[in-house]
Amino acid sequence: MNLDMAGRTALVTGGSSGIGLDTARLLLREGACVFVCARDGDRLHRAAAGLAAEGFDEHHIVPVQADVLDEADIARLVDQIAARAGKLDMLVCNAGQARISDFAATSDDDWREELELKIFSVVRPVRASLPLLRQSDAASVVIVNSLLARQPEPHMVCTSAGRAAVQNLVKSLSVELAPDVRVNAILLGTVNSGPWERRYAARDRSDTRTMDEWLGDLAREKKIPLGRFGRPEEPAAAIAFLSSSLSAFTTGASLEVSGGVSRFA
Ligand code: NDP
Repeated sequence: MNLDMAGRTALVTGGSSGIGLDTARLLLREGACVFVCARDGDRLHRAAAGLAAEGFDEHHIVPVQADVLDEADIARLVDQIAARAGKLDMLVCNAGQARISDFAATSDDDWREELELKIFSVVRPVRASLPLLRQSDAASVVIVNSLLARQPEPHMVCTSAGRAAVQNLVKSLSVELAPDVRVNAILLGTVNSGPWERRYAARDRSDTRTMDEWLGDLAREKKIPLGRFGRPEEPAAAIAFLSSSLSAFTTGASLEVSGGVSRFA
């Protein structure tokens, strides 16, 4: 793939693991300088060192410990990008996680916490980055969202509602920030990364299936047409496409990366 990213600067939130880490790897491969953030600084620096060990120029990968919900952290991160690059071409709002609980088990505090994560993990990085994005001649924001936005699951009631709100926000941002900044989303189904590793680790210990067997059974239960979970590099490729000039006439769009599991036409 030649996505023409030499000289471009990217920020990938949640870049220490899973989809964010594979996105950072792909943008680096395409020539970009990539800032990555996450809350756990040790893991983040290990991930950056791992990328450098793969042969990427260590000056092109910049880990900055930051919580996307913390305004001061985000301001500090954006200041570092400004000092280093003076502009931002690609923002990938990927940081986050889901909450598993049905309506009965979801307290007001749970609702507040989950909706805050879903909304402010986009609002804070986008708002803080806007002056730098406007310095770019090809600025794009990609928001990592989920099919739950369109087909809620009762056992993830507040995550689903939050995802729907984010989907709505993508449209508003794509109009308000045009023509300077494109804003698109990917809608994930199930991707074999951090959340599923955690669920596998927390399974009933009488379950002796390997992770591959467990995921294979889940894929069958979920009737995923392509018959498997996604791999992190697959959403990463979709993110890279939406971040690149190959999608220069696309804004306000949502690309499903789900193995075909969407029930909507
Ligand atoms: P991982 O758990 O592998 O990675 C999540 C990343 O986000 C980590 O780097 C984590 O680091 C970081 N992160 C979490 N919260 C914050 C925060 N407040 N501030 C900064 N960084 C944060 O998950 P995935 O790669 O699978 O998930 C990527 C995104 O895709 C997430 O938003 C997730 O909700 C979404 N998604 C994933 C699906 C899947 O099946 N995998 C399905 C639907 C959506 P740290 O904990 O150190 O902060």
